[in-house]
Amino acid sequence: MHFALIFIDLDGFKDINDTLGHDHGDLLLHQVAKRLRNCVRNHDTVARLGGDEFTLIIEGINDVERASEIAEKVKQSLMQCITINGAQVYVTGSIGLTFYPADGRSVEDLVKHADQAMYLSKSKGRNRYEFFSYIIEEQAIEKRRILEEIRVALSEDQFVLYYQPIFDLDGINVSKAEALIRWQHPQHGLIGPNEFIPMAEQNGLIEDIGNWVREQAIHDAAQWYYISGQIMQVSVNCSPLQFDRAGQWVDDWVLACNKQGLPRDTMVIEVTENTLMDPESPIQQQMHRLSHNGIDIAIDDFGVGYSSLAYLQRLDIDILKIDRSFIQHMETNESSIALVRAIITMASHLKVQVVAEGVETTGQHQILQQLSCDYLQGYLFAKPMPKDQFTELYITPLTPTAS
Ligand code: C2E
Ligand code: CA
Ligand code: CA
Repeated sequence: MHFALIFIDLDGFKDINDTLGHDHGDLLLHQVAKRLRNCVRNHDTVARLGGDEFTLIIEGINDVERASEIAEKVKQSLMQCITINGAQVYVTGSIGLTFYPADGRSVEDLVKHADQAMYLSKSKGRNRYEFFSYIIEEQAIEKRRILEEIRVALSEDQFVLYYQPIFDLDGINVSKAEALIRWQHPQHGLIGPNEFIPMAEQNGLIEDIGNWVREQAIHDAAQWYYISGQIMQVSVNCSPLQFDRAGQWVDDWVLACNKQGLPRDTMVIEVTENTLMDPESPIQQQMHRLSHNGIDIAIDDFGVGYSSLAYLQRLDIDILKIDRSFIQHMETNESSIALVRAIITMASHLKVQVVAEGVETTGQHQILQQLSCDYLQGYLFAKPMPKDQFTELYITPLTPTAS
């Protein structure tokens, strides 16, 4: 015996339920069930597993081509407008397919694999179908392994902070730095943040990583402050998810600075615009408390998000970091220059400092000088480097006073 097991999860069903009410939601599920019934033969099985999840069992099928035809049919039929009590609604489905016995001989395995395939459809943008493959399974195992490794990395101190200097407009003096995390992996060497931060964000580990980064960055900034007697402003990237813990988060920053005897305006918290736009997030309130306590706030990757200007003043933003994508195209694209100019002009009126990110060529440097940008960061001047190297290059020790 062989058959195809197909999982269908409706996309956006919750929104319909929330906006039109549960009665409409129920009617919608009825209509969907009817449509699914019409996509298969009489002796095939259509079931609703709960919520907005449906299952089809198509007997006698073990080839991808025929299963694809059915999945396509299901997809198309779900996309048609549904009228419920006069209201027109649209749903789509994320579909995952498996075959018995090729993809699993036990119910548990087959269901698990159909679920993984369905999640793959969701993650690839919904309203589509995907077949289970052992590659998906391997990816899931790999993901669990990396998460476990991140936990070990935290407990065994495998993370390090690199620092990238931020230069004054002359490209010589350095008065700020951005802390950028790296993972010194015992087998794989130095791993960049893009390889593990997103995963840590999805799995709740970002809070622990964020705490570690805060303590380390404040520790390093304090050391530089005591060596040189001057403030080297250090900025730290914070993911939106770190703000979820009510209030305590701000206190942790203040306490850590106080403990090290570090002036609080040494530290800058970098957040992206999108973080600020989420009305659900407690971040706006926490931003106010941060600036009230003297910690500076920078908007990272400015220009690629909503770029709503109203919040710049309302939230007491200190620094804008113009996204690399604009700086990159300034030499070839007039409108990029116009945008950068507009940002700089606006920021200077609002008394907000501007950092140009990702400066890579002398041409870009010249344009930014003409536009009177405040600060520059990029490979043209320096790449992120280990703390010791930064100390050696950019921290001038206090000269001992003659006695
Ligand atoms: P970001 O905040 O936009 O940081 C700037 C990134 O651009 C860094 O990559 C930096 O090395 C790179 N960069 C600097 N100058 C240039 C340049 O001239 N050209 C090019 N092509 N790239 C340049 P990195 O270190 O790989 O960090 C990537 C992202 O990871 C960061 O983007 C930030 O969003 C995130 N990240 C880094 N450290 C942390 C952290 O401690 N916590 C959190 N939550 N996220 C972090
Ligand atoms: Ca940043
Ligand atoms: Ca950035």
